[in-house]
Amino acid sequence: MILTNFALLDTEKGILRNNFQIMIEGNKIKEVKKGKINSSKTKEINLGGRTLMPGLIDCHVHIHIGQFNDNKSVLESEMTARSSKFLREMLLRGFTAVRDAGGANFGHKMAIEKKYFTGPRLFVSGKILSQTGGHGDHRGKADFCECAINSGGIEVIADGVDEVRKAVREQIRQGVDQIKIMAGGGVSSPADELNHLQYSQDEIIAIVDEASRAGRYVMSHVYNNEGIKRATKCGIRTIEHGNFLQEDSASIMNKKGTFLVPTLVTYRADAEHGSSFGWEKHNERKNQQVLDAGLRSLDIAKHANVKIGYGTDLCWSPKSYQPEGLLIHNQVLSNAETIQNVTLVNAEILRMKNLLGVIKSGAYADLIVVDGNPLDELGLLCNEGESISGIIANGKFIKDKIKLNY
Ligand code: ZN
Ligand code: ZN
Repeated sequence: MILTNFALLDTEKGILRNNFQIMIEGNKIKEVKKGKINSSKTKEINLGGRTLMPGLIDCHVHIHIGQFNDNKSVLESEMTARSSKFLREMLLRGFTAVRDAGGANFGHKMAIEKKYFTGPRLFVSGKILSQTGGHGDHRGKADFCECAINSGGIEVIADGVDEVRKAVREQIRQGVDQIKIMAGGGVSSPADELNHLQYSQDEIIAIVDEASRAGRYVMSHVYNNEGIKRATKCGIRTIEHGNFLQEDSASIMNKKGTFLVPTLVTYRADAEHGSSFGWEKHNERKNQQVLDAGLRSLDIAKHANVKIGYGTDLCWSPKSYQPEGLLIHNQVLSNAETIQNVTLVNAEILRMKNLLGVIKSGAYADLIVVDGNPLDELGLLCNEGESISGIIANGKFIKDKIKLNY
């Protein structure tokens, strides 16, 4: 098909361009041309002067997750069924690619590719590696069972260089796109504080080594400044959250080309909804700490020229908050920069540069049609996709509210 009569949002330059047409063949953009594309066999679709831009990308989601503290009562089959709902809703919000930060596996990816599920392009991490007592260990103090090591949760407990190597190999054997680890304390875990450093350097280096020999990279959950520095020096490619980032760690990230994936919307959502899903006092306290530090980390990253992506990490709060984090980025970054975070930079994180996050010949046809100009009004990308009248995923319209001329 040929798309006509739209303003093309150029994510690289952060501007709108007029008088272009594009041709989609199969699941790819075949041609982007100023003026008219001549082809008699192809149907033309008039976008009515709307904005055409690459689909949004979320680099930190959890589609396969139980309710808070319910990993022992919800079976994998139910979690999988529920993930199909989350995936479909994400796509309908305009997110045409998402990176799962732990929980989803190759089966979820195949469910989309084989069309059992409707969802975004999915990049999976399998189970998250955590040390005993780390952010991925949800056992209470009096719980001595070893089941956390192999339970149906979204993490695997692995300690020591030998165990982490084996755990990485196991994820790779099962077909993950990248490896996810917990290199510091977190908000939702009972036995740690945000300033804790988790995994020894030897363990992190071993994890990165195992992953990179198999063509994978490692993403790490970490909030505290020391932990960010350590993880970056050990070869972690993407820092997840990073709320306590300081100038010194930001400068190391910049030198190493390490990405920051802030997940700022979740703290706001959880502050509102935490009590409804069973958070305790220590969860609320830690959440407040990361919420307060969040915007400052974005500002520091911007000034140190750290590459900033976009993530949401909505675990138990409503996933409808997914695009609202754009408005948080926008408190520090311009509209164009925020759009780059959620398209261009996230595509680079996914190792899909020039294939996603851009409208170029050879890129995947993952596109959204917006009623208005998001470079002026970012809110057009929010509100459950209300102002997104068309969504093309992998070359096909999956949402079409455009008065079309075909
Ligand atoms: Zn995390
Ligand atoms: Zn997460």
